[in-house]
Amino acid sequence: MQNPNFCDYGTFNSQKVQDFGIVIKIYEDRIRLKVTSVTAMAVQEFLKQKHIKFFERCLQILPTRYSSLDTNRMTVAFFALSGLDMLDALDKIEKDKKNIIDWIYSLQLLPDDDESNLCNCGFRGSTTIGNSFTPEEAQKNPIWLDSGHIAMTYTALASLLILGDDLSKVNKKAILAGLRQLQQKDGSGVDRDAAVKYIQQSVSYEGGIGQGPGLEAHGGSTFCGIASLVLMNKLNEAFNNRQLNRLRQWCICRQQTGFQGRPNKPTDTCYSFWVGASLKLSNLEFNRGFLMETQNIITGGFGKWPDHNPDALHAYFGVCGLSLLGEKDILEMHAALNISQRAADHLHQIHKSWECN
Ligand SMILES: [Zn+2]
Repeated sequence: MQNPNFCDYGTFNSQKVQDFGIVIKIYEDRIRLKVTSVTAMAVQEFLKQKHIKFFERCLQILPTRYSSLDTNRMTVAFFALSGLDMLDALDKIEKDKKNIIDWIYSLQLLPDDDESNLCNCGFRGSTTIGNSFTPEEAQKNPIWLDSGHIAMTYTALASLLILGDDLSKVNKKAILAGLRQLQQKDGSGVDRDAAVKYIQQSVSYEGGIGQGPGLEAHGGSTFCGIASLVLMNKLNEAFNNRQLNRLRQWCICRQQTGFQGRPNKPTDTCYSFWVGASLKLSNLEFNRGFLMETQNIITGGFGKWPDHNPDALHAYFGVCGLSLLGEKDILEMHAALNISQRAADHLHQIHKSWECN
């Protein structure tokens, strides 16, 4: 099997791409100057077509500043694919869908004959380690220290759902073994009861959820804790009304002009999703205004802050934040799974077909 063109979208290390990245950087610097000078115009319109172009570009080529993400290509691809899905624009990549699906499956780490590597299975983020594009070839020629990664496994499965794949080529046994291997004694893993206990213990004195017991509450970990409890159907079992109200209050207090991730930190586009999804706020007028300031009116995409270069992560979560606000022209999202409701419905259909078999 030949590498599809899609694999070439992020060959960050080739000279050609580096040169192109420099050109893009110069171009973006000039654009930033222009954007700075037109910020006062305060564009309030959601520039859907520009964001669609931005995500399409992310699947084709990326500036050199993304090179540190070389091992995380799967996640960058997810931001672009889910962004296109949220904007109801998957038709733009219709002819590439099969290639992208093949590329994602090429990064699935399969068990060897005696299943001795079962606990390392899952999806990799890229071919950086040197594995073959064909999973069966990679299986025959194992690479020392090759292993799946939990974030890449999640974004790979979510991307397959978004692309309408039926997950039939996913090795479920291996994925489950890989995830089970990550279970920690303290409960930060996939044992449900232990995981619930860990999340409960990670609630800080402020009322939000930290990355672990005794740590400061944070917008990202608050979302992960709440979403995990919702997906396990344990939210109301884990927290009583008083605790849930304190949690909501902590989230509401993160709203300044946009949302911040922690007290005394600057507001940042992505927390419109992390905190907004935790709360599903109703009074979000200020937040929309902040997002309109971080929207790049020339290249499309969203930056972390106003006048910052747009990037795939903040572009995606900016779109998600606006979806939570009910922005027209953006699909409804399934906040706990962090994909569109449409992709989540597709997953539920697959689950039903598994139950019937
Ligand atoms: Zn951010």
